Amino acid sequence: MENYLLRQRDYLLSISRAMTARLDLPSLLQLIIEKAVEMLRGEAGLIALLGRNGDFRVRASYGFPARTPQLFAPLLTDIPLHHAHWPVPDLYARLQLVAASAAINLRQVVGLPLTLEDKLIGVIYVFRTRDTAFSANDRQVLSSFADQAAIAVRNATLYQQLAEEKRRVDAIIENSADGVLILDAECRIQTMNRALAEITGWTPEQARGQPCRRVVALRNPQGMNICETGCPLDAFSKGSKLQVEGDIIRTDGHRTSVSITYSPLFDHEGTLVNIIGSVHDVTRFREAEEMKAMFISVISHELKTPVALIKGYASTLRREDAQWDEETVRESLVIIEEESDRLDRLINNLLEASRIQAGTLKMELSDVSVPRLAAKAVERFRVQAAKHQLRLDFSPEFPPLLADEERLQEVFYNLLSNAIKYSPEGGTIRVGGRVHRDHVELFVSDEGRGIPLDKQSRLFEPFYRVESSLGRRTQGIGLGLFLCKAIVEGHGGHIWVESAPGKGATFRFTLPLR
Ligand code: ADP
Repeated sequence: MENYLLRQRDYLLSISRAMTARLDLPSLLQLIIEKAVEMLRGEAGLIALLGRNGDFRVRASYGFPARTPQLFAPLLTDIPLHHAHWPVPDLYARLQLVAASAAINLRQVVGLPLTLEDKLIGVIYVFRTRDTAFSANDRQVLSSFADQAAIAVRNATLYQQLAEEKRRVDAIIENSADGVLILDAECRIQTMNRALAEITGWTPEQARGQPCRRVVALRNPQGMNICETGCPLDAFSKGSKLQVEGDIIRTDGHRTSVSITYSPLFDHEGTLVNIIGSVHDVTRFREAEEMKAMFISVISHELKTPVALIKGYASTLRREDAQWDEETVRESLVIIEEESDRLDRLINNLLEASRIQAGTLKMELSDVSVPRLAAKAVERFRVQAAKHQLRLDFSPEFPPLLADEERLQEVFYNLLSNAIKYSPEGGTIRVGGRVHRDHVELFVSDEGRGIPLDKQSRLFEPFYRVESSLGRRTQGIGLGLFLCKAIVEGHGGHIWVESAPGKGATFRFTLPLR
């Protein structure tokens, strides 16, 4: 008897070792049933668990030739759902049914409920092929195995729930539109999601293990790296959240304005384990704010200048105490006309820009002769371009294009007016185009001051000007090229610039041929 108890203890020990070593439910249940059969000197056994739909399903079996689930059906129906109502009624008759269909000689059976917190979760059976009945002691032993099986089920269920929960949290983090960053206590990156990968240009794999100050180095508006001068995370210790704002420079050099909220995660002993950062891209918001401020200052300046000129010349002309010769009157009227044109262009540009931003820019397409359109634009600027030579340079037999004539005219006006404005010393301005297989390429070139390479990518942004608006020498609000780009792209083409400082600038754009 003592020997028996020792063996039982050994079996249970090996099972609990296995349980701590693996969390895989099927293999644990298999181990439990095998050991239970051995321990009870039986020949076969099975464990069935109660599914969500109220049916029992065999999850582990031992000693049967084939594991066809239907085989066990008689033992798995009408099982008392409360262990107080056990044992299973008519067990012996059921056993005979199984024995007959399984074609094995099953003579004895013992079955016990698996219960977790008083709830039936399954059943364990052990069978013998000889006549020796299971004793009270056998039942007791089996009940220890049943307890182990129930614990294994609970552990595996908890583990499964945990894994599911983790998958859910991972999916939420991964698909969050905001950037998410998980740091260890040393501020090294453990995880970051796709949105943050886009903001920073780092892939999550590259970023893993990197110090946070490398990947999300924050710069203040003056361009100073605030992670180097004083890590914002040093400032927070207990409990509170921390919000910082700044610019992140992407790996490709682009700047993104972000607002980051860091929340610390402490373990039950109060030790910092993780810092969770939620990174919100506020570039658009920041740009909109800057644009609004710029808009007001630039517009008021730009509107005031022509209005002051027009008013000045008009009041001079209408002075009753003065006589003006014809030449002075004509020159004054030319200025009034030019300034009115400028005002008109400015207002048109503003209206167009607001239409683009509202997404309501609609093209009105018709057949357009681009060389004729360009010639008209050149004519219009002749007076202003007194110091320049204006040249038209189109390939012969330039085909008509399906385009919005007025808007295309606007593109030429803007590019020509820039070419004149930004080559104050004069020089040749060429307007022309070449025909390719499926598109035409048009250009406006000048020999003016040109544009530094690092400024070229931003030229087409609204309100962007190479000269700062404070120290500027030429008039303009930085909308012309933004409009050109929107119009060209609205036609299915694209626009770019080729230029070097002091070497003039060539603006080129394409338009598709039908
Ligand atoms: P604006 O001329 O009203 O400032 P644009 O959008 O037309 O606005 O042009 C944006 C900026 O691009 C200008 O401020 C100028 O700095 C630069 N730029 C445009 N065209 C030329 C050019 N032909 N040569 C040199 N710089 C140019």
